[in-house]
Amino acid sequence: MKAEHYVGGVFRSDGPAFPLFSPADGAEIGGVPEAPREVVDDAVAAAREAVRGPWGASGVEERAAAMRRIADGIQARFGEFVDAEVADTGRPRAFAETVDVPRAIGNFRAYADLLYGRPERAYTTQVPGWSTGGGQALNYTVRRPLGVVAIISPWNLPLLLMTWKVAPALAAGNAVVVKPSEETPSTATLLAQVIDQAGLPSGAFNLVHGHGPGAAGEFLTGHPGVDAIAFTGESATGSAIMRNAADHITPVSFELGGKNPALVFADADLDAAVDGTVRSSFTHSGQICLCTERVYVERPIFDEFVERLGARARELADYGPMISAAHRDKVLSYYRLAREEGATVVAGGGAPSFGDERDGGFHVEPTVLTGLPETARTVREEIFGPVCHVAPFDTEDEALRLANDSPYGLASTVWTRDLSRAHRVAPRVETGIVWVNCWNLRDLRTPFGGVKASGIGREGGEYSLDFFSEPVNVCIQI
Ligand code: NAD
Repeated sequence: MKAEHYVGGVFRSDGPAFPLFSPADGAEIGGVPEAPREVVDDAVAAAREAVRGPWGASGVEERAAAMRRIADGIQARFGEFVDAEVADTGRPRAFAETVDVPRAIGNFRAYADLLYGRPERAYTTQVPGWSTGGGQALNYTVRRPLGVVAIISPWNLPLLLMTWKVAPALAAGNAVVVKPSEETPSTATLLAQVIDQAGLPSGAFNLVHGHGPGAAGEFLTGHPGVDAIAFTGESATGSAIMRNAADHITPVSFELGGKNPALVFADADLDAAVDGTVRSSFTHSGQICLCTERVYVERPIFDEFVERLGARARELADYGPMISAAHRDKVLSYYRLAREEGATVVAGGGAPSFGDERDGGFHVEPTVLTGLPETARTVREEIFGPVCHVAPFDTEDEALRLANDSPYGLASTVWTRDLSRAHRVAPRVETGIVWVNCWNLRDLRTPFGGVKASGIGREGGEYSLDFFSEPVNVCIQI
């Protein structure tokens, strides 16, 4: 499929094209236009026009209806979206069919529904009462859209994570300029086509393609015409964007990297804990921000857990590739580093050989490591591949100390059958999300985000609508 920019309701392909490669077999599958600064300027100007025009004046019913038309439009082209996501990412088809595309549809439907629970532009009121001037006043608070929102998204769940921001930003009445990852431009282009068909006022949704540093991403996040930035990606990129945004004091919502811990207590249902950790470490070949890379297991069950997890990792067959040759090389460099740092490789540890066309692709083996000190880089740094390190602990306090000794704090899992322990431990794990006896069970209304280097702010349900709008207090002397 041909990647195009979408600016002010017009598809265009300005800028030199760069090649797109299939992660599944390394074949070149297309070219992507690299947006020059002028295209970004045009997109921001078109978004501003939309904010000042009919889209900015639209009401909740109109916007909710637009969200539903977009959801229906994706549904009507479900197969094309699946094909595009599979082509760009190399992931198993079933994953795109059951996760990526349904969740994108769900993102638009969820915010259409939420809008009806939220009176337009005025959802907090205060009765007449005390005021510092001594007189009586009526205060009420309206929520106003921020204006032009820049959305920068990553390659790991391209459509899902992009729509996770686009839906609430549009629902709250903003106009958006989206820059998807340069590795995964296709579903964003399809979404632009759907939105074009859905009849949103031109400029409400704009799309520019290109790279980050020194390119479209940087032009957009440093643009004086952008009122807010919603970004998902690496923590180091978050720092760069924050520096770039600082000149204009642009507010940010950041969903960043992780080094997520699992805490497995000896009283856990071991089958469930092993199953859950196989899923949490190896789903999408570990390329989900919520994936587990550090597993802490209470000593009495440590050996059995490691043995079972290793066996399950070796059995995995139908797994997808890393997104790019560069990312494959990065993950393999951590596999080498782990050995240099003294790890025992329980499973995997290299690149697989399938004996078919996949050998041209960017696969790495699901890998289980043990034996590293907590100071090892392999244990501290985000690898973002199908790999976890398993270490023993002896007490609840030690488990918490190990889990919390990380610069990151996105998500964690706790495996125990002791109800009191679960409630005691969960709030003490320094992550924004704690799953007890499960992983990645998601209710889209709940707060989603990380602490420490894993992010700023929360998204999901009302939390997203709050970020994408500004409370404005109106005070009337009575
Ligand atoms: P990345 O930071 O390399 O790129 C993300 C996006 O930022 C891309 O669109 C890229 O072009 C753009 N970008 C890069 N440098 C930029 C700059 N200087 N200015 C503006 N834009 C720039 O991340 P990635 O490799 O695409 O994704 C993987 C990372 O994302 C991992 O760290 C993962 O943990 C994280 N992630 C976090 C969440 C979450 O919800 N917390 C979800 C998914 C992925």
